[in-house]
Amino acid sequence: MNTVTRFAPSPTGYLHLGHAYAALFADAKAKEAGGRLLLRIEDIDPGRSRPEFEAAILKDLAWLELSWEQPVRRQSEHIGNHRNALTTLETRELVYPCFCTRKEIQAEIESSGMAPHGVPSGAPAGPDGPIYPGTCRSLSLDERRRHKDEGRPFALRLDMAQAAALATADAGPLTWTDRERGTVFAEPEIFGDVVLARKDTPTSYHLAVTVDDHMQGVTLVTRGEDLFAATHVHRLLQVLLGFEAPDYHHHRMLTTETGGRLAKREQEAGRTEGPTGKQRPLMIRSLREAGKTPAEVREMAGFKTP
Ligand code: GLU
Repeated sequence: MNTVTRFAPSPTGYLHLGHAYAALFADAKAKEAGGRLLLRIEDIDPGRSRPEFEAAILKDLAWLELSWEQPVRRQSEHIGNHRNALTTLETRELVYPCFCTRKEIQAEIESSGMAPHGVPSGAPAGPDGPIYPGTCRSLSLDERRRHKDEGRPFALRLDMAQAAALATADAGPLTWTDRERGTVFAEPEIFGDVVLARKDTPTSYHLAVTVDDHMQGVTLVTRGEDLFAATHVHRLLQVLLGFEAPDYHHHRMLTTETGGRLAKREQEAGRTEGPTGKQRPLMIRSLREAGKTPAEVREMAGFKTP
């Protein structure tokens, strides 16, 4: 099978060294297998995505001497694909409207005595923060209609218990092949009723990533350990939507705190400090402006140019 990897940045800021590591990692995995690297701009967040960040990302990646196939897929241009997937899930009665505000969700979690961040003890951190307590799942059709008629904004959530039951009835236990960990059993139930369409945009991270990886024919999803939890949810969505599962490779996170060697190099390259004096990740553009060469920055990210 021809290996297809992707780098999928969100244009909500400038690329830092951690992003460079993720992009170079995806590129290396494609090259090792004689495959292809794709680029996807994950711009579904209307409040935070900016065209100037997208332009800067493309510039930084090209400066790092990466190349990728055209066209670049911009998620916001494929909302129709996400909607179709949502319709499939709605037809299977796995989706419900949620009118809760963040504040209401937090209050419900506190009054029900769940852990402060809603994550049951021993569970991996939820990919979306607090686990939704399920308040709107039991609204009657009349109540849903009334809230909608009143013009209350709503998100669409996956009925996780139903979805997981249906998927395992269809496909047996859910697993994925992880290049670091071998066969992993997916436990999406831990993450509760995740959002499939947000109040401010008719899709969500989980839905868009799952659909777009499928539409782009990605066979190996490489991404940071920080998104490991999300893969449990994506694996479930793949089964429900009839998509083939790609392999996954969750890589370590490269941060400025990872080691003395990096920290020393940062000092030369004009690292920025946050208001608390805590190190902020190093921006690729700052390194370029400080006179670093692409080969030097690749090496700082752990990829020595042969
Ligand atoms: N857009 C996500 C990010 O910038 C990455 C999504 C993914 O790799 O699944 O963190």
